[in-house]
Amino acid sequence: MSESKSARVGTMPPRVRIAPSPTGDPHVGTAYIALFNYAFAKKHGGTFILRIEDTDQQRSTQSSEAAIFDALRWLGLDWDEGPDVGGDRGPYRQSERTAIYREHVQTLLNNGTAYRCFCTSERLAAMRAEQEANKQNPGYDGHCRGIDPADAASRAEGGEAHVIRLRVPEEGETVIVDELRGDIHFSNAEVDDQVLLKSDGFPTYHLANVVDDHLMGITHVIRGEDWITSGPKHVLLYRGFGWEPPLFFHMGLLRNADKSKLSKRKNPVSIDHYRSLGYLPTTFLNFLATMGFSMGEDQERFTLEEMVQAFDWSHVKTGGPVFDGVKLDAFCGDDIRAMDPQALKDALVKHAFEGRLETLVDLSRERINRLDDFLPYISFFFGGEVDYSSVIGKMVPKKRDKKETIKVLKAYLEGIERSEAARAFTVEGLGEFSKEFAAAQGWKPKELYPLLRAAATGRTASPSLFDTLAALGKDRVRLRLRSAIEALRRLAD
Ligand code: GLU
Repeated sequence: MSESKSARVGTMPPRVRIAPSPTGDPHVGTAYIALFNYAFAKKHGGTFILRIEDTDQQRSTQSSEAAIFDALRWLGLDWDEGPDVGGDRGPYRQSERTAIYREHVQTLLNNGTAYRCFCTSERLAAMRAEQEANKQNPGYDGHCRGIDPADAASRAEGGEAHVIRLRVPEEGETVIVDELRGDIHFSNAEVDDQVLLKSDGFPTYHLANVVDDHLMGITHVIRGEDWITSGPKHVLLYRGFGWEPPLFFHMGLLRNADKSKLSKRKNPVSIDHYRSLGYLPTTFLNFLATMGFSMGEDQERFTLEEMVQAFDWSHVKTGGPVFDGVKLDAFCGDDIRAMDPQALKDALVKHAFEGRLETLVDLSRERINRLDDFLPYISFFFGGEVDYSSVIGKMVPKKRDKKETIKVLKAYLEGIERSEAARAFTVEGLGEFSKEFAAAQGWKPKELYPLLRAAATGRTASPSLFDTLAALGKDRVRLRLRSAIEALRRLAD
């Protein structure tokens, strides 16, 4: 670590942030980055901020934002400033700051760091097609760079649709100083003239991120390495505004066991999944911490408080942290065994029944004859994977084959992410989505529904399918459909 950095860390309490986009389930990567921001801030008496980056109006949802808050609070990573707790550098939701971005982009237009681009979507599509045909790097070809700014301003005033782009120097390079990795050089020729403000007046990630980090007084940007390639654009923006950039720390991205980027396809990535399966939040944080932080002397088990006390960038590793579910289970098992009996009993009752008890009673009422039947009956609503041995032979519908069945299950998994109706995972929404899905696949409901039931429960009978799926919850359904696909793959043709 460079001395200048240690010195700068020491002069002023740091202000750090996480800036998730509310476009899906709360991701374990968000928790990982939040943990490092939190630990660093707390170690130095600084401020940890939560900012919501919802400039993508199409994909951002209220429910995703609420789920992010909830998941981070469950982990105990509380923020000092944010949309729901306030603070004096707000608003902390980018959709409420659009006037600020529009005002700031004017500075960049005035000093030539940005320019107006009037290219139509047809022209851009033709340009892309040509670049592809000629095997050139994709990127804007600079068609509007030379328009006289005064002409451009009057065309804009006359109402001509346009975007505002960053004018990246044609020659030379831009260097980002990464405090964990050293200098990273980018040839400017490789950096695209990024759109900063879209034609609807909304900013892109780059403009909003830089303006907000500056106005919110962020001193250290600690984020995933997937943002390194945005670095040169950000550095050019800081320069264009005449602002001192914050210090950058790019953490390693969480990986699957095969070292590929952690993805829904191979691992559950939603924090809610780990919560609903009953991992302890303190264990989960400790597990996340061990992937990028070493306590020294091979000490793997430590609390958040201990991590904060010991936090130092020299103990932070950037090399591909592997998300090892076996290790997580081992940690959690040890922690459960270490709990005192009363605490364990309380935790079990809370986990088993809080929130879902009424639904489970409703769903089993018609199907049990004795009170003692209740627990065995509802058992499949708990736990992760189920045993498919009694249903695997019945999963492939009569007139279909294994390959087609796998394809349909995969499409269903994708559909529940994309479809507006299915996303909230309600009984009605799932019903509506599944009916349309079956029609779109050319499958009859009576082919699709038993398959979904068997895949999600490991049984041929359950309460009504959509009640069952909704009560299982999206994370568990996703996990089980994925393991049903694996079970089908293993089945001989
Ligand atoms: N909105 C970005 C995200 O979703 C923020 C990246 C950053 O920290 O700059 O992670």
